[in-house]
Amino acid sequence: MIQIRDLHKYFGTLHVLKGIDLDVDKGEVLSVIGASGSGKSTLLYCINGLEPIQQGSVEVDGTDVHAKGTDINKLRQQLGMVFQQWNSFPHLTALENVALAPKIVKGKSKAEAREIAAQQLKHVGLGEKLDVYPSALSGGQQQRLAIARALAMEPEYMLFDEATSALDPELVGEVLETMRMLAEEGMTMICVTHEMGFARDVSDRVAFFHQGVMEEIGPPAQIFGDAQSEHTRKFLANVR
Ligand code: ATP
Ligand code: MG
Repeated sequence: MIQIRDLHKYFGTLHVLKGIDLDVDKGEVLSVIGASGSGKSTLLYCINGLEPIQQGSVEVDGTDVHAKGTDINKLRQQLGMVFQQWNSFPHLTALENVALAPKIVKGKSKAEAREIAAQQLKHVGLGEKLDVYPSALSGGQQQRLAIARALAMEPEYMLFDEATSALDPELVGEVLETMRMLAEEGMTMICVTHEMGFARDVSDRVAFFHQGVMEEIGPPAQIFGDAQSEHTRKFLANVR
């Protein structure tokens, strides 16, 4: 599980996360929503150790992400991350892109890595595209390639940072479907998203961030139907 306690994050004097307490259980799907600049991406970066924190703690399966002795590279193998726009290596095929990390980071043999890569590409519906270069994939296919790359490391957790925001509207659905499939398979996921339909239908809980504070967290029915915070209600009224 992921355990966040009294997390404070500053960029210089800018106080970006103001005392976040959050537990994410194994198998849980959490959607994180909130206005631009509310600290959603920063939260993900503090979870996977891409950003240092100034107060509090983040533990992943009992390991303190920000402790001095922590092997952050090893820990990050447990945390697959998919960004808004993920640039695959243009000179490598889809299969080679996905096989890279298992080979280099996990020390798998070339054959094993290719096997894992083929499996994960099939998993995300790209079984026909193994030997294609990223430039020949649609935006939605490129995002699914990014998801396959993350899955090839066999992570315990998947962190999505607006994985569909850069896509043309007609390509959003296929990526959300892939994310939904992972959720149904029991993957533990934290999804920063602007897709309220996804947040409502797929998540176990939804967290609303406002100016660095987690204002409200609860099941989708509560957040979308009976929000306690005025900020949440205002935000939802504007995005719908
Ligand atoms: P969006 O929906 O636009 O992606 P967000 O909720 O993900 O927004 P963050 O990217 O976490 O917001 O940013 C939170 C605040 O921290 C913003 O005020 C942003 O300008 C600031 N910030 C983010 N990254 C940095 C950085 N590397 N250096 C300085 N300030 C930063
Ligand atoms: Mg962001």
